Amino acid sequence: MTSLIGYLSASKQALKNLFSKPVTVMFPAEHVSLPKGYRGTPVLIPEKCTLCMKCERVCPTGAILIEKLDKKNGYFTIDIGKCCYCQECEKACNFDAIHLIDKWLTASDNKEDFVTKHFVQRNGKKKEE
Ligand code: SF4
Ligand code: SF4
Repeated sequence: MTSLIGYLSASKQALKNLFSKPVTVMFPAEHVSLPKGYRGTPVLIPEKCTLCMKCERVCPTGAILIEKLDKKNGYFTIDIGKCCYCQECEKACNFDAIHLIDKWLTASDNKEDFVTKHFVQRNGKKKEE
């Protein structure tokens, strides 16, 4: 009896699936639409950055490297090959200078494609709360 109920339930589901729209898409010709707040690639806005190093300190994977040349200037490097898209850098930044955008198609066979290095001149303004 139990197996008959199981069989009927599976048949019902199979029939339902036969007439429903597929949940997969024809990638790469077709892309899925991303939900609001999707956490993709972290991107720096160098004009807003103050080189305070807060994001580097909170980053759990060491994806951010800040090299200060002097008090006002430095280099800011993000290696998305190391990023786990946790958004801790964005949450920690008081200057609205780093954001996770909806870019997700980042595959490459060249490790250097994952690394972005910016020259930063410290002139950031604190973000409004
Ligand atoms: S999203 Fe997370 S892992 Fe990626 S750079 Fe920011 S803090 Fe680091
Ligand atoms: S991105 Fe924000 S937290 Fe990171 S160094 Fe620049 S100002 Fe500081």
